[in-house]
Amino acid sequence: MDTLEKKLEELEEISMTLEPDSEERMRLTQCVNAKAEKFLKGLAESESKKVVVKAKDKSSSVVLNTPFSDDGTDIEELMDLYEDNVQYSGICQAHAMSMSLVHGGGLYVSALGRYYTSVLDQCTGALFNAPEGARLEKSLISWAASLIGYQEEHAGTLTSGGTSSIIIAIATARDSMKLKARDFERCVVYMTELCHFSFAKAMRLLSMHDVIVRDVPMNDNMEMDASKLRDLIEKDKERGLRPFLVAASAGTAIHGSVDPLERIADVVEQHNLWLHIDAIYGGFFVLVDDVKHLFKGMEKADSVSMAAHKGLFLPNGCGMILVKDGLKLFRSNVTPSETETNITSLSNTAKSEEFSLFQISFECTRPERGLQLWLPLKVFGVKAFAACLEEKIFLAKYFHQKIIVLEGFMVDVAPVLSVVVFYYDTKNDKNRNQFNEDLQNRITEDGRVSMSSVSIKGKFCLRICVLNFRTHREHIDLAIKIIEENATHVRKNYGL
Ligand SMILES: *Cc1c(COP(=O)(O)O)cnc(C)c1O
Repeated sequence: MDTLEKKLEELEEISMTLEPDSEERMRLTQCVNAKAEKFLKGLAESESKKVVVKAKDKSSSVVLNTPFSDDGTDIEELMDLYEDNVQYSGICQAHAMSMSLVHGGGLYVSALGRYYTSVLDQCTGALFNAPEGARLEKSLISWAASLIGYQEEHAGTLTSGGTSSIIIAIATARDSMKLKARDFERCVVYMTELCHFSFAKAMRLLSMHDVIVRDVPMNDNMEMDASKLRDLIEKDKERGLRPFLVAASAGTAIHGSVDPLERIADVVEQHNLWLHIDAIYGGFFVLVDDVKHLFKGMEKADSVSMAAHKGLFLPNGCGMILVKDGLKLFRSNVTPSETETNITSLSNTAKSEEFSLFQISFECTRPERGLQLWLPLKVFGVKAFAACLEEKIFLAKYFHQKIIVLEGFMVDVAPVLSVVVFYYDTKNDKNRNQFNEDLQNRITEDGRVSMSSVSIKGKFCLRICVLNFRTHREHIDLAIKIIEENATHVRKNYGL
């Protein structure tokens, strides 16, 4: 035989091992599925279960010390290794007692959608590659756009996460305002202290760290003060600076506060700036009738970032960007080879036809992201999501009610969405922060609930964010019990 043919035969034999046959596929799937079932059943068990597991010493990390080899290992052994050494390390975010991060819990049906699209491995970047896949995504974007009140001209896409959405928004704002690098030093961006750090990070990634950032004061409810915003913009204009963008929040991660969007939108409109609203945590609460009014004004934003992995409980990795004037998003994402005339004619085509997803995002090859969201929305119906979000708001209210009747505990700002910030008041400025820090450390050590801490105006506070779809009343009761138990111990140390 020809040496080339012989070589091919040899290589093919090895390559073929990458495609298990149907029977073997069933066995592989079964193995992973059995683990998933075990995990999910475990989640529903005993209250004493640890949600926070401290990291092991790096030197004893099994994964870091498991070398790669030329030969394969059976999946059962590998999944056992993963289960024993990887999956219960750090915070178990899928657990109902996970209340530290802004995290939805990871709907199983969504995971199945992601599994299925990964099996198909269709690339939805270009319309011609997967026209209906791209349209499925578009239908989800249109649905989200209708929730916030955007009209027909919008465009948007599902992204890898919230930060990606913010990067796309800032780049679109920059290009739409025709800003060049030499302008950055005179440009001004306005945000409050509670604007998520990913915004500043995104600006940095876009080489915009020279842009002046104004810290807009907040009122007592931790919301941006719209009249102070107006004053700052006017002063900056008088100074000859170039006010450029306002980053408002529809649900801050730290406090759950929603900025007065309508009033901010009026100021922005009057001064002709770009309004970005970060609705990554809070945006989908617009589905809840009782709080819908808080989101009025979103329809006036030039861009809105949202995330289905937060407010729609998807597994991590599904952000959303919506831009009111879709052509602006398109013009900001053209490839470097396009000339201005070309872009204009492309814009005209895009207006009459459809965008390819790669034309409205920085991504090229990308997964089909629609099914992971479409499937749960269709399987459960939108009502289930609205009810679950409403439940989260009531759980935060319930927690608030319960915590303030515990001796010594205080809440300065009542929860609006599903975040509650609280602290133990030692009645002594000298040891109050230390007491709360000790309490937080003790609760982390305890491990039955995961909570976080925030420092607001120099005050160390504890914080829970109720967003996991698995969290219900019994879990809030348990969280209160754990806080009470641990506070009793810390109080003894302080002689209180
Ligand atoms: C989570 C979050 C972000 C960042 O989004 P990622 O998906 O983590 O990249 C931005 N803003 C708010 C309000 C958030 O809650």
